[in-house]
Amino acid sequence: MPPVPSPTVRTRFAPSPTGFMHLGSARTALFNWLAARHAGGEMLLRIEDTDAERSQPEVIDMILGTLEWLGIDWDGEVVYQSQRAADHGAAVDSLFADGKAYWCACSRDDVDLRHKERGGKPGYDGFCRDRGLAAGADRVVRFRSPADGDTVIDDVIRGEVRFANADIEDFVIRRSNGSAMFITANAVDDIFMGITHIVRGEDLLPATPKIVLLRESLHAVDRPTFAHLPLIVNEKRQKLSKRRDDVALESYRDRGFLPEAMVNYLATLGWGPPDGVEVRPIAEIIGLFELSSVTKSSAFFDVKKLESFNGDHIRNLSAADFVSRTLPFVRTALLPVGADPASFDPAAFEAMAPLVQERVKRLDEAPDFVDFLYHDPAMDPDAWAKTMEKDADLARRMLDAAIDLLGALAVWEPVAINDAVIGFADANEISRKKAQGPIRVAITGRAVGPPLWEAMAVLGREVSLDRLGLARASVG
Ligand code: GLU
Repeated sequence: MPPVPSPTVRTRFAPSPTGFMHLGSARTALFNWLAARHAGGEMLLRIEDTDAERSQPEVIDMILGTLEWLGIDWDGEVVYQSQRAADHGAAVDSLFADGKAYWCACSRDDVDLRHKERGGKPGYDGFCRDRGLAAGADRVVRFRSPADGDTVIDDVIRGEVRFANADIEDFVIRRSNGSAMFITANAVDDIFMGITHIVRGEDLLPATPKIVLLRESLHAVDRPTFAHLPLIVNEKRQKLSKRRDDVALESYRDRGFLPEAMVNYLATLGWGPPDGVEVRPIAEIIGLFELSSVTKSSAFFDVKKLESFNGDHIRNLSAADFVSRTLPFVRTALLPVGADPASFDPAAFEAMAPLVQERVKRLDEAPDFVDFLYHDPAMDPDAWAKTMEKDADLARRMLDAAIDLLGALAVWEPVAINDAVIGFADANEISRKKAQGPIRVAITGRAVGPPLWEAMAVLGREVSLDRLGLARASVG
């Protein structure tokens, strides 16, 4: 692959396919994409799969699928780092030719032992630097780091970051098996791909001076702009971790977070629009986004706030879109395991959908709003105790009145049902809220839920009266 000329902004997302898509990776992908799209530039996708043991092909599919779900697209073909070994090898050869690399025969144990003996800074001590060793089967290649001066990084978020070269050990650039080290492949690929802006997590900052040194030694003409994105932390201000926190993006998708809400929320992790309006479509965020206004301080991942964004985006869907996106959640929750999805009749859900859309923060909450339309209510014991036992007199009165009045209604629709029940409550000085309680529990099995009269209208007269009768008999 020959080096390509760069547009003004060319970024890349460079995941290592070693696990699911982490929230932090998704935010990195998004900020790369926003920076490119804002500037009318390009974002490339490079899969850093040189670590063959840890790279799993099915994970690559998952990464691509998650990016597509989020609406993050990339320019050109996906670049697979593992297929670029020839360029990585040529780069190591050219470093040799320029006296910037040397063979090293030290094992890890040798390096550690010498450190133990001498004390001070850990790491490689330059033992083989001037030994003039030849190539050998168990030898690695190291980069000859400059002994003096500083390596300076232009970081659009952090400003100028300086590293003393004396602190940068002669790092390995080629393994003893002949393959390039990750850092070599990473630096070489960015040069070849003409990347102008290297946007990645702050955790990678310590490795950046090595990348800058490699670039300079490989005579890369352009200096890229770096942007090291702030850490994402949990409510205890700890770095989000796989073990502790729910960080797999797929799990948010599976719980009914909309991709619109997810990208919108991820965009606020370290960045905010100048007008302070956080919930908005991604097209507007592209217009407003600036890498230079990303903050240095850690970003708090607040799932409550994400849910609130999600609720807002749910409210913005058209009614038909809400139904089609929510239906899979409702179907899976309400059909028996193994049942044919086509056997699910969506009519009752569709009838209630606009009321559900106003109330949920996640699509997976929808089944609880409509399950009583599909089967007998699963009685919540607390709700039963509170409405049917604590004030059994009121429960009896309201259930009797409802059975009586609703059985006689000329039309079965929400206003008529409401007028009958509420009319009775008002006439008997029973609070409207209390009057509804026993009826709601009888119909839905729960103390809270969707608007009751609408629910009963969808359920139908016969089933509604059956349930009221059954509850009345149980109250005794
Ligand atoms: N492949 C690295 C990772 O997934 C990212 C390296 C980079 O962005 O430069 O952590």
